[in-house]
Amino acid sequence: MKSQDIRKQFLQFFESKGHLIVPSAPIVLKDDPTLMFNNSGMAQFKEYFLGNATPKSKRIADTQKCLRVSGKHNDLEDVGFDTYHHTMFEMLGNWSFGDYFKKDAINWAWELLTEVYKIPKENLYVSVFEGNPAENVPFDQEAWDIWKTLIDEDRIILGNKKDNFWEMGDQGPCGPCSEIHVDLRTAEEKAQVSGKSLVNNDHPQVVEIWNNVFMEFNRKADGSLEKLPAQHVDTGMGFERLCMALQGVTSNYDTDVFTPLIEEVEKITGRKYTSNEIKNVSEEQDKTNIAIRVVVDHVRAVAFAIADGQLPSNTGAGYVIRRILRRAIRYGFTFLDTKEPFIYKLVAVLANQMGEFFPEIKSQQNLVTNVIREEEASFLRTLDQGLQLLENVVKDTKGAEVSGAKAFELYDTFGFPKDLTALILKEKGMSYNEAEFDSELQKQKTRSRAASETSTDDWTILVEGNTETFVGYDEVEKEVKITRYRKV
Ligand code: ATP
Ligand code: MG
Ligand code: MG
Ligand code: MG
Repeated sequence: MKSQDIRKQFLQFFESKGHLIVPSAPIVLKDDPTLMFNNSGMAQFKEYFLGNATPKSKRIADTQKCLRVSGKHNDLEDVGFDTYHHTMFEMLGNWSFGDYFKKDAINWAWELLTEVYKIPKENLYVSVFEGNPAENVPFDQEAWDIWKTLIDEDRIILGNKKDNFWEMGDQGPCGPCSEIHVDLRTAEEKAQVSGKSLVNNDHPQVVEIWNNVFMEFNRKADGSLEKLPAQHVDTGMGFERLCMALQGVTSNYDTDVFTPLIEEVEKITGRKYTSNEIKNVSEEQDKTNIAIRVVVDHVRAVAFAIADGQLPSNTGAGYVIRRILRRAIRYGFTFLDTKEPFIYKLVAVLANQMGEFFPEIKSQQNLVTNVIREEEASFLRTLDQGLQLLENVVKDTKGAEVSGAKAFELYDTFGFPKDLTALILKEKGMSYNEAEFDSELQKQKTRSRAASETSTDDWTILVEGNTETFVGYDEVEKEVKITRYRKV
């Protein structure tokens, strides 16, 4: 089944159960001081749960463009390295605002997965909240009893507070959740570990696809729980993961959500991507695969953010977008040997593929393409300058170790990533002094903190509405974490 049809069927199914279908909210949030990007389906409905606004319908369903690259949910570092976490992904969701509760939510989820999508029941596991007396939250007996009518007991797994209990904050609405996991292991792998032992033996091919949250309590200031007057359902299912389960593959990147983009990268770079079914690839091929996954994932995040009005910039959300794009450029530059802009060419493929359901990507196609091309050209120039400088540094270095201060200068002034410096030096049988680099970084951070004025330099100090100052980054892979911002 094509991804387009999978999405349609989800919406049609919930429409048939009396849900109003609404469009996705923008990926970039403009007026929520607590959140930069939409990171779940429920974000746009927050006010309904808090009772500050009334929904158009008590039952709503949609697919929400989500971005998990900052704050509480930051999956960036996994992207490219695993096959089921993305920066941008679609979250399919159905909601009940004070209407139906656990019984309908669970039964419908099961009906959709097993009867409409026809996922074999023996490939599904579910989890139920185990309870936590220390924090006054009870075992979710009700969900357990409902699941027991649908699935063998040894496929119901108990989950802890971290995975199976949702809270808005220290106070306010909260409640247990029930997750659905799909088991995509081969028969051989299944024979090795089965049933509940999977809990302690996470397998990369047993993947969480759907989270059903039951908001049933209100946590009071003294930590105690009371039943909410109206109980709500909030569910979220990863669209790309669902496509993986339904298209008989074991990686999101082997679904038709990604294969057209991957084919285009292959065409442009002359490199080949190997599907997840092909095991034991060489180290070099592995790196190529990671880089291609990074590129095809990141272009979606960046393109949709720009289409929703967030241009790459030096502050706030724009800065996060710029960093994501630069991460993709860097992976291309380092592992796919792309020395010219190329990511912008993927926008046409994306618009073609997603434009029917998300018209903004089509209507903004020219802008998105041009912005990405410009960003690529400018960052590649920076990388190029850095490379030349590095050559000079190498020439001036006696012995096999470049000074940490020089490596830091490259990083600080030219945005030349330290892992790239390490890689290039390694090829020459050299390295740089990491302790010295770290000490320079520390000094720079102190300087940044002391500086009161704003610098427009891309790589040093950034000011966000005069409330946040960027204090530098220490590791390239972790660079977009919001914790890097210090309140001033
Ligand atoms: P995981 O444990 O796999 O990180 P999660 O528990 O953080 O997922 P939820 O917050 O429960 O995810 O979100 C609901 C659903 O959204 C998940 O069940 C999953 O299918 C999907 N999802 C979550 N994060 C991502 C991501 N980074 N990329 C793709 N799909 C995701
Ligand atoms: Mg997660
Ligand atoms: Mg989870
Ligand atoms: Mg979850």
